[in-house]
Amino acid sequence: MPPRNTDTDPVEDLLTTDEAETSVRRDEKPIVVPTQIVWRNFFWLALLHVGSVYALFGVTWKCHWYTLIWALFLYIWGGLGVTAGSHRLWAHRTYQAKFPLRVFLALGQTSAFQNDIYEWCRDHRVHHKFSETDADPHNASRGFFFSHVGWLLVRKHPNVKVKGAGVDVSDLLKDPVVYLQNRYYIPLMFLLCFIVPTAVPVFYWGESAWNAFYVAGLLRYCLILNATWLVNSVAHIWGMHPYDDQINPSENPLVSTFALGEGWHNYHHAFPSDYRTGEFGWRINLTTMFIDVMAFVGQAYDRKLVSTDIVLKRAKRTGDGSRFK
Ligand SMILES: [Zn+2]
Ligand SMILES: [Zn+2]
Repeated sequence: MPPRNTDTDPVEDLLTTDEAETSVRRDEKPIVVPTQIVWRNFFWLALLHVGSVYALFGVTWKCHWYTLIWALFLYIWGGLGVTAGSHRLWAHRTYQAKFPLRVFLALGQTSAFQNDIYEWCRDHRVHHKFSETDADPHNASRGFFFSHVGWLLVRKHPNVKVKGAGVDVSDLLKDPVVYLQNRYYIPLMFLLCFIVPTAVPVFYWGESAWNAFYVAGLLRYCLILNATWLVNSVAHIWGMHPYDDQINPSENPLVSTFALGEGWHNYHHAFPSDYRTGEFGWRINLTTMFIDVMAFVGQAYDRKLVSTDIVLKRAKRTGDGSRFK
């Protein structure tokens, strides 16, 4: 079945920023809270980054090249688990997926260790609804560092919880795949993020456990994390605004390269129900390519997209003009 236009069949989109909500928010007195560092997260993330720098400069050049290919495979699998899985499938419901594809994506998402699908989607829906306010978990108006990683190092702003409570996430745990992943998340995560990535090179091509752990485990994990964070930081700060000039999210090809197509962020915030998260299909968008291939083999269906006509009208009305240059 070809992708379906959402302008002829409007999907009720609870994820776009609500204008009434925005005007109320602007009049509100901001709650000022002292920044409270979560030392446990600080310690683990610092250790991960130090280990990854060591892996990059001290291990990658001496490990078996199969290990590098394996790390790249895990990067793409984990990346797709996040982009095609928790983001486009579960958080935004931009398409439907059959059981085998949902399992493949959920396992990939687990290997990327970015919280379980339920929590990931809850944070993401709150991010869309309350973008660049205190209720946005990675509020980019607090600067590059906060939106990139700082938000994970400090206690959440109270508004994230208070306002986030109003965002509907009741659909998520109804999917048995999401439910089971949520229930067994910790052991599954250890298995898929660290144990399997290390064990495969050791058993199949005699790599040392040390090399396998540092390259396919730590370094690969650290790179996926940073690629995902780039969407929240760089793609909320730098780039053009062809579709909506009034919002921070921007079009950033570099972010799209590392984040498998998630850098077309001005488009995505303007049209969050479009499964392509960008206007131009497969252009620097491995995730759209993957979903289309899955649709071709019958695993993905009901892909929703916005027609070019509607996109151009919106770009003309609210864009910065760069769409027509
Ligand atoms: Zn999104
Ligand atoms: Zn965003």
